[in-house]
Amino acid sequence: NRTIMDYLGQSFSDFPNNAALVFQGYKLSFAGLKDMVDRFASALSGFGIEKGDAVAILLPNSIPCVAAYYAILKIGGVVVMNNPLYSDRELSHQFNDSGAKALITLDLLANRMIDLRPMTRVRQIVYTSMGDYLPFPKNLLFPLIGKKKGLAADVKQASDVYKWKELISGSSPASVQADLDLDDLAMFQYTGGTTGVSKGVMLTHGNLSRQFQQVRAWFNGFDRGKEVMLGALPFFHVFGLTTSMNMAACQGWTNVLVPKPQAEPLLDAISKFKPTFAPLVPTMYIGMLSDPRIKTTDLTSISACFSGSAPLPVEVIKEFEKITGATIVEGFGMTESSPVTHINPLRGTRKPGSIGIPIPNTDAKIVDLETGDNELPQGESGELIIRGPQVMKGYWNRMDDTAETIRDGWLYTGDIAKMDDDGYFYIVDRKKDMILSGGYNVYPRDIDEVYYLNDKVQEVCTVGIPHPSRGEAAKVFIVLKEGVKATEKEMLDFVKDRLAKYKWPVEIEFRTELPKTNVGKILRKDLRAEEMAKRG
Ligand code: ATP
Ligand code: MG
Repeated sequence: NRTIMDYLGQSFSDFPNNAALVFQGYKLSFAGLKDMVDRFASALSGFGIEKGDAVAILLPNSIPCVAAYYAILKIGGVVVMNNPLYSDRELSHQFNDSGAKALITLDLLANRMIDLRPMTRVRQIVYTSMGDYLPFPKNLLFPLIGKKKGLAADVKQASDVYKWKELISGSSPASVQADLDLDDLAMFQYTGGTTGVSKGVMLTHGNLSRQFQQVRAWFNGFDRGKEVMLGALPFFHVFGLTTSMNMAACQGWTNVLVPKPQAEPLLDAISKFKPTFAPLVPTMYIGMLSDPRIKTTDLTSISACFSGSAPLPVEVIKEFEKITGATIVEGFGMTESSPVTHINPLRGTRKPGSIGIPIPNTDAKIVDLETGDNELPQGESGELIIRGPQVMKGYWNRMDDTAETIRDGWLYTGDIAKMDDDGYFYIVDRKKDMILSGGYNVYPRDIDEVYYLNDKVQEVCTVGIPHPSRGEAAKVFIVLKEGVKATEKEMLDFVKDRLAKYKWPVEIEFRTELPKTNVGKILRKDLRAEEMAKRG
C-alpha cells in the first residue's frame, strides 16, 4: 500500500547525501530535495491549498519542477503538468478544465500568466528563474524557452505573485504529510493531443505507485542508490514523469535534468554527467544520430535506453546501438495507463520492432477491431486492450469518453496491434490513422518504415488523402538529411520493390520539418488536416 511519497521518503532517509538532481552541473542532494519539498509544501498550505485541490506546474525539467511536484503530492493536492511551449489557448483549457488554484512557472512566462490569470481560477503564481540553481551562470547560459535569452526576466508587480527562491527560504520545513489513500487522485494528466483535444486523465496514487513497482521490475538487478538517470524526457508528459522522474526519485538514483532535449544539450549532458539509463523518444534518437557531434562524443556510460510513445524505426535502433554500444529496448504506453504496459526485457530476448511483453500485473488482449470483443488468434491484427492497476480512474469531466475507453475493466487503446507466438506484441498503427485504399487497410507506419531505410531520408510521415478511384491513397511527407537532394520520382520508385502495389504512395512532398507534439511525436493529424483543407 505504499505511495510514491513513501518510496521517496525511503530515498530521503537512505541516501541523504547522494545527488538527487543534477541541473547544468548544480547538484542537489536527497536531503536538499527533501528540505525544498517540505518548505514548498508549507508554502502551498499557506496559500490555502488543501487535499484534493488542483495545482498547475508549467516548467521545463528543472529543480523547482521536481520539488513542486512532490510538494503538491505531499499535501494531497492534484498535480496538473503543462507544457511550457503551449499557447494561452491550450493552457487556459488545461487550467480551467482542471480548476487549478495555483501555478508554478518560469519568470519568462510569468507576465503572460499574470495576464491569463483572470480567465482562470488560478490565484497564486510562483515563478522561478532558470538561473536560480546554476553554479556558474555565465558559462552555462543557453537559450531555453522562447526567443528570450538570459537568466531572469522582469516580472511585473502584481498581487499573489511570488518568487520561488524567496518563498522557499521564507517557508517552514515542517510541513505535514497528508493521509494518502491509493484511491486518492494524484494527477490530472493531459493526453498528448496527437489525435484530438487533450483530455485530463485521472491518475491516482495507486496508479503511480503500482506503475513504479511494475517498471522497477524491469530494472531488476540494478541497486537502489547507485544509478544515474537521464532526465531528458519532459516531466510534464507522463512517460518522462514515470520512467525518469519517479523512477529515479523512488530508487534513490541521480537524475540528470535536461530542460531542452535537443541533440546538442542531450549529447552534452550524456558526455558530462554519464547517465547509465536513458529513456527517450524516437525523435531524440533521430536528432542525435543526425548531429555530426555524435561521432566525437563519448556515450558509452549508457547501459540501457528505452524508447516509447511512438514507433522507433528498426534502422534507428541499429544505428544508435552501433554508435553507442548501449542496448535500446522499445516499450509501449499511453497516458491512460500511467503510461507503461509493455516493454522488451532488458536481459531476455528482445525483438526489434516489437513493444515487448506486458509488464508484471498487466493483462493484454487483441480483439476484433469492429466489435471490440472476440479475442483474436496469434498473428492477427486487432485493437490492443489492457487491464492492470496502472489503468486510470477515467477522464476528468468526460463520462462519455471514459465509458467508451474503459469497458468491462479493459482499457481500449485505440491502437492496432498483433501478438506473435512467443507472446511479443507489435503495434501496427493507430486506428484513427489507418488508410482505407481500394478495399485494403494500409498502415502509414508500414510505409514510413520503408522510407527510413533510405539513406537520404531523415524523417517521414505518411497520411491518407482522398483518391478518385481508390477512396484514399497514401501521401508521404519527407524531410531530407542536411545537404541532400532527391526528386519526387526517385522517392515514389523507392518503395516499388519493397511494398505491395496497393500500398504505393501517390504523392511525395518534401518539407524542411514536420509538425510535432510536445514530446516530439509527428502530428499526422495536422498534415492530414492540411491536405483536407487544400481540397476544401
Ligand atoms: P491523444 O490521445 O490526445 O490523441 P496521444 O495518444 O499521442 O494523444 P499519449 O497518451 O501521450 O497521447 O500517447 C499514447 C499513444 O502513443 C498510444 O496510444 C500509441 O498510439 C502511441 N505509442 C506509444 N508507444 C508506442 C510505440 N512504442 N510504438 C508505437 N506507438 C506508440
Ligand atoms: Mg491517446
